[in-house]
Amino acid sequence: MRALYFENHGDPSALIVGERPRPSPGKGEVLVRVHAASLNHLDLFVLRGLPGVPVELPHIGGADGAGTVAELGHGVEGWQPGDEVVLNPGLWCGRCEFCARGEESMCVSYGIVGEHVNGAFAEYVKVPAVSVAPKPPRLSWPEAAAFGLTFLTAWRMLMTRARLVSGETVLIHGIGGGVALAALAIAKRVGASVFVTSSSAEKLARAKALGADQVLDYTSCDVGREVRALTGKRGVDVVVETVGAATWMSSLRSAAKGGRIVTCGATSGPNPTEEIRLVFWNQISILGSTMGSLADWRAMSRAVDEWDLRPVLDSVLPLERGRDAYQRMVTGDQFGKIVLDVAGASSPPGQKGS
Ligand SMILES: [Zn+2]
Repeated sequence: MRALYFENHGDPSALIVGERPRPSPGKGEVLVRVHAASLNHLDLFVLRGLPGVPVELPHIGGADGAGTVAELGHGVEGWQPGDEVVLNPGLWCGRCEFCARGEESMCVSYGIVGEHVNGAFAEYVKVPAVSVAPKPPRLSWPEAAAFGLTFLTAWRMLMTRARLVSGETVLIHGIGGGVALAALAIAKRVGASVFVTSSSAEKLARAKALGADQVLDYTSCDVGREVRALTGKRGVDVVVETVGAATWMSSLRSAAKGGRIVTCGATSGPNPTEEIRLVFWNQISILGSTMGSLADWRAMSRAVDEWDLRPVLDSVLPLERGRDAYQRMVTGDQFGKIVLDVAGASSPPGQKGS
C-alpha cells in the first residue's frame, strides 16, 4: 500500500512516500481504507522523536483519519465492510482502574494512533474496533478526517474539565491551531464570550469572522493587561492553554478570581515562568487534560451533528505531498487543519469514496 512514513527520526526531509505492507486486522481490530487523514502537532513530535516514547521504525504517522471499513478481524461485531468511519485516535486497555471508571484517556497504557502504533497516513490503517466511530454524515471526507483529535481534546478541556457554561468568558491563545479553533467553535456554541490571540493580523481577522468577540495581537500588547482592561479588571473565567512556556504567565494574569486554566499541551516548551502567588491569591484552578474518554467522544460527536460544527481546513494536499504538509505545520503559518487526501477523497459528503 502507499504510505507516508519515516525510517529515521528527523525533520520533514526524513519523510518518504512509498510502499509499505498492508496490515492485517487481528482479533478485535478493523482495517480501514483511509480516504483522508489530517496532521496534528503530535505528528511533528513523533517524527522528531519523543524521549521515553520509542516507536518501531519504519513508522507511519497520523492520528486522525476517515475512511471505510475494509476488513474485520476475528470477533468484531457491529461493523460491516463499507461502513463509513472516523478514527477516535485513543488506544486504551479497557481493563485498568481508570478504564473501568470510564476515563479511557487516563488509561495506564493509554496510547494514540500514529504515535504508539502505525497511523492513518497510508491507504490502510489497522485499529481496535472500539477506536472507530461513525462518520458524521454532514462532513466531507477531508472534514471528517480533520475533527477527531482536536474536537475531542477541546471538548474535554472546555466541557468536562473546565465545565464552561453560557455567559462565561474564555481566552484562547494562538488561534489558528486545530485545538484552538475547535475550542473557539465549541465555546461560541455554548454561549461564551471568546478572546483569542495571535501574532498574525490575518489570523485574527479570520477568527473574528468565525465569531471571536475580542482579538489580541500578542506582539503589540501585553495580553494579561489587555484582557484585564477589556473585562473591567476582572479577567476571564477560562483560559485554554496549548502553548505553554510562551503564554503561561499571561494565562495566570488573564484568569479571573476563581478562574480555570486548562492545559492540554506546551508547543512552545514545558517549563514556564510560574507565579504561585497569583494561583493562590486569585484561587485559580489549573486543570490538566489529555485527549478524551469514550463519553467525551460521544458527547462531542453529538454536538458536531446537532450544532453543525465543522473543522476549519487550512489546506488539502495529496499524500504524495506529505512532506510539504509536515513542513507547513513546522512553519506555523496554517489556519486550521492540514489534510492529506489519501484516496482522491475530496468527494462531497455522503458520497462513497472510490
Ligand atoms: Zn486502561
